[in-house]
Amino acid sequence: MIPFLDLKKINEPYEAAFQEKLKLVLDNGWYILGKETETFEKAYGEYCQTQYCIGVGNGFDALVLIFKGYIELGKLKKGDEVIVPANTYIASVLAILQADLVPVLVEPKLETYNINPDLIPEKITSKTKAILAVHLYGQLAEMDKINEIALQNDLIIVEDAAQSHGAERNLQSKIYNLKSAIAYSFYPGKNLGCLGDGGAITTNDPELVKVLFSLRNYGSEQKYYNEYIGVNSRLDELQAAFLNVKLSNLDADNEKRRAIAKRYLAAIKNDKIELPFWDFSNNHVFHLFVIRTKNRDYLQQYLTKNNIQTVIHYPVPPHKQNAFPDWNNLSFPITEKIHNEVLSLPMSPVLTETEVNYIIEILNQY
Ligand SMILES: *Cc1c(COP(=O)(O)O)cnc(C)c1O
Repeated sequence: MIPFLDLKKINEPYEAAFQEKLKLVLDNGWYILGKETETFEKAYGEYCQTQYCIGVGNGFDALVLIFKGYIELGKLKKGDEVIVPANTYIASVLAILQADLVPVLVEPKLETYNINPDLIPEKITSKTKAILAVHLYGQLAEMDKINEIALQNDLIIVEDAAQSHGAERNLQSKIYNLKSAIAYSFYPGKNLGCLGDGGAITTNDPELVKVLFSLRNYGSEQKYYNEYIGVNSRLDELQAAFLNVKLSNLDADNEKRRAIAKRYLAAIKNDKIELPFWDFSNNHVFHLFVIRTKNRDYLQQYLTKNNIQTVIHYPVPPHKQNAFPDWNNLSFPITEKIHNEVLSLPMSPVLTETEVNYIIEILNQY
């Protein structure tokens, strides 16, 4: 069986380095918010070419804390509307709700699966105060257009980059004057993954940073003195240590993903299969390689029979989830079409050429 994602194989080369880090942390006897976390925050901030980076507990908390931070700064308030793609992983939508804000769903483009910027202005009301852009499957959303809309309407920009570590890294220098922050997840399966939960926020906003460092640690800067109603969401020392080991390989890993994507795009030739759009720029880090087909479940069964494991990202869109009965009657035809037709092929830096060739051959015979 060719696994969809072989995490054991991905982490194997780091084993000796991980053991060394474990020993280091044990020897230090310091497990929360220590040197490794500080080192990672500095390194990841530099890697992202942003002024600040704050380690947090996971990707979801990274999003929630950005919103809560802007609420503490008085730049957002309970009940404000946040534009978010209708086609996203549920965490993006839940984070908005968790911060007592109101998600307003916008259809994606069928070609890129990302939010359609042309449909944003018609959803903007007097209550709209932010846009949450999601770089789905590893491909950057159309940030130039989104930034322009945000500038014109004085909106905060939050980016969900949980699937797009390392995609064209200069984002924040381009939008330096805007209120803006980016959320990352280091969940094991992401392009940069640790061995448990982890997350980070990057931003160039010095006011926001100050609040975030406090919010993630019970709203306290000085121990036992609380300025804000904070939470416990810290990137732990051991996970930060593992990330310090893996960060230096992120660009090379993303390059391997793009090389596999190039092979898939060039060699998969089957009228029944729609291949993903890619402009061959570094705006895509292929967290996932997502194809579309009319008879998706049938194709998935066919691939399983041929020992190729695939996954559906995602089978049910947020507005059709049981958790949101009020939304179930809403209609987002493009989002629904995507959820009915998508299938993610195996994609990772450890996929071999032989495996890729076999997957292509089986797909072409379908
Ligand atoms: C993984 C993911 C998250 C959440 O990250 P966690 O670390 O699992 O909390 C948020 N948004 C998107 C798009 C994701 O893929």
